[in-house]
Amino acid sequence: MTTRLQTMLERLGSKKSGTMSAGNLVVSPSWIDYFCACKRKAYWKYNRRLVPRKIAWNLVIGTWAHLALEVYYRDWDIDSALQAVRAAIKEFRCQHPHLDVYDENQFHLASAIVLGFLTAYAQYYCWEQEKWWVVATEVKFDGMRLMPRVQAKGRVDLLVEGPRGLVAVEHKTRSMITGGYLQALPMAYQSALYPIAAERKFDLPVHKIIYNFIRKPNIRQRKNEEPADFIRRVRQDYSDRPQEYFYREVVRMTGRRRRQTLDGLTQVCKEARSKLRATEDPLVAYYREPTACTMYGICEYMPLCLRGERSSVMAMYMTDKGETEE
Ligand code: SF4
Repeated sequence: MTTRLQTMLERLGSKKSGTMSAGNLVVSPSWIDYFCACKRKAYWKYNRRLVPRKIAWNLVIGTWAHLALEVYYRDWDIDSALQAVRAAIKEFRCQHPHLDVYDENQFHLASAIVLGFLTAYAQYYCWEQEKWWVVATEVKFDGMRLMPRVQAKGRVDLLVEGPRGLVAVEHKTRSMITGGYLQALPMAYQSALYPIAAERKFDLPVHKIIYNFIRKPNIRQRKNEEPADFIRRVRQDYSDRPQEYFYREVVRMTGRRRRQTLDGLTQVCKEARSKLRATEDPLVAYYREPTACTMYGICEYMPLCLRGERSSVMAMYMTDKGETEE
C-alpha cells in the first residue's frame, strides 16, 4: 500500500461504508444505492460525511416506524411498541423544542403516522402470530466477507421462520409504491445481501425476502385540529382502509438471481475501489450524474453541486455521525 493511499484511507476513516478498512472495501445497502445513483452523491455523504442540517422527515418517520415494528415483533405487543415510539417522539421533541411552522406540521404528521398505523397493522396481519416464529429483530452484520477484499455491513429488519423456512423481512415506509419499483426489487442489491447475511449468522438457508411496505397517508392536519384528534383520524383511516396502506412483495432469491446480483455488485465494488485509489481530484473521480438530481425529489446535495463549497452553502450541512448508516 502506498503512503499516499494510506494517508487517504486514514483520512477517510475505517469501517464506514464506501471506504476501506484494513485493505477491504466496506459496503452497505444504502451506500450502494447512493453510489449507483450518483457518484458525487456518494462522495458527499460517505466520503465527506455531509448531511443537510434541515430535518429529513422521511428518515424520522422511517426510524420511528422501524422502532415500532422492532418492539412489536420482539414482544408481540402493541402497547410496548407504542410506548417505545412515544419515548422516541418525546426525546426528539426535547432535542428540537423550537420548530418553525413547516417542521411543526411535519412533526405532528410524523407522530400521527407512527402512532396511527400500528394497531391497524397488527389487526391486518393478525395471522402472523400463529404462523411466524421470530428468530431475531434488527439482525446486524458488520465485516461480513462478501467477496475478495469486500466486506458488507448493514442490518436485516426481521428474520422469521415460517412454514417453509427462514424469511428475511425488510420494512419500508413510502408515500407511493409503483409497479415498476416492485418489479425491480429482485434486482436490488439488498435482495441478495440480506439473505446472505442472515444465512451466515444463523447457518440456515434463506430463499425469500419480504418487502413489508407501510404507506404514508395523504391526509393532513386540519386548521385548529388538535394533535390528539389528528392522530385518532390517521389511526381510523389506517383501520378503515388497511389494504391501501399495507402491502408486501415477496422476492424469491434463486441461486441464479443471487449470482447475477452479486456479479453486478462485484463491478460496483471494483469501480468504487478504483475511485478510492484515484490520484486525481476526487470531484473528477466522483463525477456528477445529473439524471439522478430529481430522481427521488430534489437531491439534497443540489446546492453543493451547483454552488460549490462556499461558506454559505457549507452552513446548510453538518457532519454525519453515522448512527443512521445501514
Ligand atoms: S445534485 Fe445531482 S449531481 Fe449532485 S450529488 Fe445530487 S444527484 Fe448527484
